[in-house]
Amino acid sequence: MGRKSMFTEEGTCDWCKKPSFVARHDYLDGKFNRSCESCYDIAKIDVRLFNQGEMKMRERMAQQLG
Ligand SMILES: [Zn+2]
Repeated sequence: MGRKSMFTEEGTCDWCKKPSFVARHDYLDGKFNRSCESCYDIAKIDVRLFNQGEMKMRERMAQQLG
C-alpha cells in the first residue's frame, strides 16, 4: 500500500495550517489531528511522543490505584 493512499481526505494540516490532502493521526485520548504529506513525518513523531507520555501517565495512575 502506497503512502499516497493515506492522503485521501481534503482538509487543513494541523502542523503547517495549509489546506491540503491530509492523513489522520489518532491520539490515545480520542483526539486526532490531520497532517499533509510534507508534515507527516513530524506529525507522526509528535503523536507518538504524546501517546508515549499518555501511556506513562496511565501506568502511573494504575500503580497509584494499586
Ligand atoms: Zn502540513
